Amino acid sequence: MAAADWDVIIIGAGTAGLAVLREVSKQTDKVLVINAGAYGTTCARVGCMPSKVLIESARAVHDCNKLAGFGIAGGQQVKADIPAVLRHVRELRDHFVEGTVQATEGLGDRSIAGQARLVGPQAVEVNGQVHRAERIIIATGSRPVMPAAWAALGDRVLTTDTVFEQADLPARMAVIGLGPIGLEMAQALAYLGVAVHAFDKSSSLGGISDPKVEKALRDALEKDFSIHTGVDVELHAQDDGVRVAAGDQSWEVDRVLVAVGRKPNLDGLNLECLDVALDDHGMPPFSVATMQIGDLPVFIAGDVNHHAPILHEAADEGYIAAHNALADQPTPFPRRTPMGIVFIEPGVAFVGQRFAELERDALIGEASFTNQGRAVAAQRNAGLMRIYARGEDAVLIGAEMCVPAGEHMAHLLGLAISEGLTVRQVLRMPFYHPVLEEGLRSALRQIMKQIPCDDTDLARCGEFRIQALD
Ligand SMILES: Cc1cc2nc3c(=O)[nH]c(=O)nc-3n(C[C@H](O)[C@H](O)[C@H](O)COP(=O)(O)OP(=O)(O)OC[C@H]3O[C@@H](n4cnc5c(N)ncnc54)[C@H](O)[C@@H]3O)c2cc1C
Repeated sequence: MAAADWDVIIIGAGTAGLAVLREVSKQTDKVLVINAGAYGTTCARVGCMPSKVLIESARAVHDCNKLAGFGIAGGQQVKADIPAVLRHVRELRDHFVEGTVQATEGLGDRSIAGQARLVGPQAVEVNGQVHRAERIIIATGSRPVMPAAWAALGDRVLTTDTVFEQADLPARMAVIGLGPIGLEMAQALAYLGVAVHAFDKSSSLGGISDPKVEKALRDALEKDFSIHTGVDVELHAQDDGVRVAAGDQSWEVDRVLVAVGRKPNLDGLNLECLDVALDDHGMPPFSVATMQIGDLPVFIAGDVNHHAPILHEAADEGYIAAHNALADQPTPFPRRTPMGIVFIEPGVAFVGQRFAELERDALIGEASFTNQGRAVAAQRNAGLMRIYARGEDAVLIGAEMCVPAGEHMAHLLGLAISEGLTVRQVLRMPFYHPVLEEGLRSALRQIMKQIPCDDTDLARCGEFRIQALD
């Protein structure tokens, strides 16, 4: 083979690719970044950040509905100016994108805009030219799935790639797909005043595997929009809008947001040339500890490998791939405690082991937030937390929840789980009053009651069963 032009070629300048660039650049300048399409990362352009800006605007207007309950007049008159909200989303989006684009600006001829295609385990073709490298890192991300029959409806169907570009939103929308992205969008649209009908083929919501948590979430969300799960919908053009049909029922809406999942950007990469067995989805075999594909000088990081398609995992995988690409021998990296958050109210979160993965002897403690003191004071009283501990020694292993401040609860539990703490150890730590975390403590106390322990241990200190005191 001809001498390599580069130490590392990175395909894709998203979060994972930029993490690779940051790490590799500490050791070599011989790094080439190839990116197709817009720069600025999925997170900043069309993902985490614009969706969170929309959600914050939607919450701000929705919270005005609670003002009367606090003894404050005028809340009912507050309405979202949706074109202004969307302009605000795009303004902040542009600001976030600017920061990420700076990461590749200044690379000069070490950055190429174009669609990359492998022509071997150490060679990449882009814009008709072949570049050779010691190592290649694939970080091409994913894109929204859009069934062809629905795409034929043109601009009546939207995805998260297009919804933030709209000048306005119509009065009635369907959201199809109630995973994390669909749920976030459905609630935000409903809070902004759009009449939302939401559908999913599966019977679960937001990826929750614990049926009790899922039921609590459904009860809470049905106040915001109509939910239809276990239905396979068909879309038909009707007047200027769309008719969503499921069995003998149908709903007329103006636009449909399709959020039925994301597809790894593997097609067009010509992975066949690597001579490894690809699975039915075209995915090559790779290690989640090293990110290496087989024993090739090729690594795969971020959403493209579909292992954990969320931002901090994409960044971790870029870090792992970069270090292993520069090493003589790849090192397996232990991965972090899994965590997922869905930014809705009540906040959905999972951390550690999921309910569906529990051993039969796992200990479970739960706390409802419908009567939790601080949540009642804030008019955020809804939802359920379920915490899981190992049967033999009550070590915390996981949790699923839909509770106020779920994102923060998940981080607290993530710390405890990552450190291998037992329920008893966590209960010996301070809990202030009155805080939402007292709900978390109630769930831990339920587990504590299931294990033998000395009454002289403060972890044993129980609840009053009085709303103002627990
Ligand atoms: C609406 C939405 C909300 C989200 N919210 C959250 C959240 O709240 N929290 C969270 O953790 N995660 C969230 N995510 C997920 C998060 O955005 C992704 O996990 C993350 O952006 C993935 O980064 P990546 O580097 O793998 O891919 P990307 O950022 O997509 O980068 C891949 C790059 O590769 C380029 N590319 C593709 N094919 C080629 C090719 N052949 N040649 C060259 N370049 C190519 C692409 O154009 C792109 O620029 C959200 C995603 C969406 C869509």
